[in-house]
Amino acid sequence: NLNEKLERSFKMLKGQGRITEINIAETLKEVRRALLDADVNYKIAKTFTETVKEKALGQDVLSAVKPGEMMVKIVHDELAGLMGGKSVDINMQGNPTVILIAGLQGSGKTTFSGKLAKHLKTKKAKNPLLVAGDVYRPAAIDQLKVLGEQINVPVYTEEGSKEPVKIAKAAIKYAKEKGHNLVIVDTAGRLAIDEEMMNEIAAVKEAVSPHEILFVVDSMTGQDAVNTAKEFNDRLDFDGVVLTKLDGDTRGGAALSIRSVVNKPIKFVGTGEKLDALDVFYPERMADRILGMGDIVSLVERAQEQFDAEQARQLQKKLAKNQFSFNDFLSQIQQIKKMGNLKDLAGMIPGMGKALKDIDIDDDAFKHIEAIIHSMTPLEREDPAVLNGTRRKRIADGSGTNIQEVNRLIKQFDETRKMMRMVSQGKNMGRMMGNMR
Ligand code: GDP
Ligand code: MG
Repeated sequence: NLNEKLERSFKMLKGQGRITEINIAETLKEVRRALLDADVNYKIAKTFTETVKEKALGQDVLSAVKPGEMMVKIVHDELAGLMGGKSVDINMQGNPTVILIAGLQGSGKTTFSGKLAKHLKTKKAKNPLLVAGDVYRPAAIDQLKVLGEQINVPVYTEEGSKEPVKIAKAAIKYAKEKGHNLVIVDTAGRLAIDEEMMNEIAAVKEAVSPHEILFVVDSMTGQDAVNTAKEFNDRLDFDGVVLTKLDGDTRGGAALSIRSVVNKPIKFVGTGEKLDALDVFYPERMADRILGMGDIVSLVERAQEQFDAEQARQLQKKLAKNQFSFNDFLSQIQQIKKMGNLKDLAGMIPGMGKALKDIDIDDDAFKHIEAIIHSMTPLEREDPAVLNGTRRKRIADGSGTNIQEVNRLIKQFDETRKMMRMVSQGKNMGRMMGNMR
């Protein structure tokens, strides 16, 4: 796992007074090995570590900053830079805007088409039309229809037709008549690159002149993802990449390699099967994620969609000041329950992914926790330090749990608070170092 490897190699630098050629050699070797393990292309990994080395050795030794931390920052910035530096929007010109979705079978095109329709409908107030261009498998059309129903977006299909070019053209005409200002064309893929598929998708491109062509790729396919991306790009000259299935073990490697090999921005990442499991791609955050800091910003952002922005702001303030209380903990739990897959979400919190790997969590897991917190007085919730033995006993009785469970929760709460504090300090450290340059 890339995170652990990097963590270990950075640890070796801890306690060293300054960065020198000798003490980073081993670290760089680890970094390169870690990148290779994460399916980063060999040449890219090599160039990457060389750049990092140059930057690290060129740094003045700042007495306030530990070399290990400085290396983390250098590697982080370099990673983010390699992945494009900043996020790139999709082209929304045209009326209707036409977006063509391409990729191999099983990469997640149809799912992404649904996710994108939902995303643009809410974020950009668009009126989308989905087009079923995968005409070879009846199930594919049904799949898109089901997705369309879930998000209330009509799906254009032509039963029995085997001509994706005609369907796409007719769909655009239909969209104009019905006032759809966005058309998303899902297409058929194959298990591997073949000429017929390429010809077909190229013909669709030719026929409808899409404003945006998005190439969808399964991030779990590693090095293959890069080859596939290259072939699709050579043929279609696509505008952006969608990395799907980034919800499992982090495979940042594909993001790095694809970006460097085809030089096209990654625009979205899919993080689950559900229709809201879609994130805009931010290189900085992906770099954080690769480095194991956890994608706290995405987490906060997704949470914001569920509860109001003011509440999120207050929570961030509290986190920074270490005033996070049981009341916040409780409202967090309630928000999290609304957000869907708990494991997905918990995995975004630094340190939590590992802790939760072997544990099955479901919504019921929170029942006892909620009961315990409900049995606390307002003072106890705001200031857990007052929770002595007598109070703990009373809470256990009141919540129908036992003293061990109460103790465990208090301990968990303390740890969460500590961890969150560390995260917010980590962010500040980054800023501090930025200012010092
Ligand atoms: P297509 O053949 O390219 O249209 O791929 P599909 O959209 O049918 O997706 C193939 C499978 O991958 C389906 O089971 C999807 O539910 C699943 N899938 C798609 N995107 C994601 C994702 O981001 N995360 C996860 N875990 N599964 C996904
Ligand atoms: Mg499909």
